[in-house]
Amino acid sequence: MSAGDGHADLLVRDIDWLITVDPGRRILRDAAIAVKDGRILAIGKSAEMATTHAGAKEFSGRGMVVTPGFVDCHLHSSFQLSRGLADEANAQSFLFDRMYPYEAALEAEDVRVSATLAASELLRHGVTCFIDPGNYHPEASVEGVMATGIRMLVSRSSFDLTKSVLGILPERMIETTAQALERAENVLAQHGKTKNPRLRTTASFRGLNNASDELILGLKALADKYGTLLQTHACFSYSTHDSSLARCGMAEIERLEHLGVIDERMLIVHSGWLEPQEVAILAKRKASLVCAPSSSLHNGYGNFLMGKLPELMALGVNVALGSDHASSGIVDMVQEMRSACCTYKEVRANPRLMPPETGLEMATINGAHAAHWADRIGSIEAGKDADLVMFDTARPEWQPLINPVSNLVYSATGDSVRHVFVAGEQVVRDYRLTRIDENALYREVPQAVARFSKKLPIDKMNQLRWPVS
Ligand SMILES: [Zn+2]
Repeated sequence: MSAGDGHADLLVRDIDWLITVDPGRRILRDAAIAVKDGRILAIGKSAEMATTHAGAKEFSGRGMVVTPGFVDCHLHSSFQLSRGLADEANAQSFLFDRMYPYEAALEAEDVRVSATLAASELLRHGVTCFIDPGNYHPEASVEGVMATGIRMLVSRSSFDLTKSVLGILPERMIETTAQALERAENVLAQHGKTKNPRLRTTASFRGLNNASDELILGLKALADKYGTLLQTHACFSYSTHDSSLARCGMAEIERLEHLGVIDERMLIVHSGWLEPQEVAILAKRKASLVCAPSSSLHNGYGNFLMGKLPELMALGVNVALGSDHASSGIVDMVQEMRSACCTYKEVRANPRLMPPETGLEMATINGAHAAHWADRIGSIEAGKDADLVMFDTARPEWQPLINPVSNLVYSATGDSVRHVFVAGEQVVRDYRLTRIDENALYREVPQAVARFSKKLPIDKMNQLRWPVS
């Protein structure tokens, strides 16, 4: 612990509980964080730090639990307007009857509204960085998301097989392998050179069933060329597992291994339906995995029932956390932590599995490693950027406050996030965004819904079962 050299321009002081998630996993009482030019200069005891950094602008952490900004490793920013359109659907129906038609109906302006709304909800719940698996209007996503102050890893979504065992893609989403690769590279080339320190890129294919080997290999080559992640959904339901066996004679992770694309720069989302040899492959190749609890719980995909994430973590595999999409309801990493920890306890009938510290690691430092951004984010320690979340404990869910990690994971929700900083900039103040007029944004939502709804069988999709008069 050090009071730090040089003078801070911001001192967050009198913090009741500071949960650092640093290498020693220290929790400090009566703590302070000194920040200079957006970067953490030092952490330490408040009284000492106040003397060392006298003159810095002060911000009170009294009554607060402070954590690192959460890293949501899987969130579709274009799906934010789909709440209520994809309930009670199995994997095939969710994708081919609901979400792909929804996605194909969106114009760039709708995606901008959706992405702004998604980033707003993420920030309000303490997420300071997220990875987007991509859509067909990535520029609109970047415009909407960057306006809020959050960090983002953007990509363009890719498919090149029109038909799979699961269904046929909407016409607007159909493209050749060459088109998909060229469009993906455009995003990597444009934003790889960006001067915006909060924006990075990834290469992405949306799943294995509608992706050819040529597309997967081409995207891997692009990821290597631009030094980015390669991400995909995989193994998220019985149907994706079974259709891979039917079409390729191999399970999904086996196919990726056969193609030689799995390494530490790969991000695999879900990974619930794994055969024993696939567990061995993932343990050997050290890809990062993303647990996405709410989408599996909402749609009954079986990722917890079949999942091996506790075993994979014990084998040294990095497992992060993702909220996936608003189609499943919550976009709240605090609730996702609870779901990940408690659901594994339940399906294994084992209370020792997944303690709350593991949930918090998945949501912070593991996510930073998965994003390959852990040199700057994921924990509160000198040298990293000041991405801070401040939970107000003057609320019932934080009483009594004996073990703050327990309260955070088992009792709280993201609704008790009062202040959020990204690189030392306050982007949430007293529960509201500082850069965005939230009420103006909410007024844009029904207009966007009215635009895309005209192109969809909306009454069939929303399944409102009770009479409305
Ligand atoms: Zn997803």
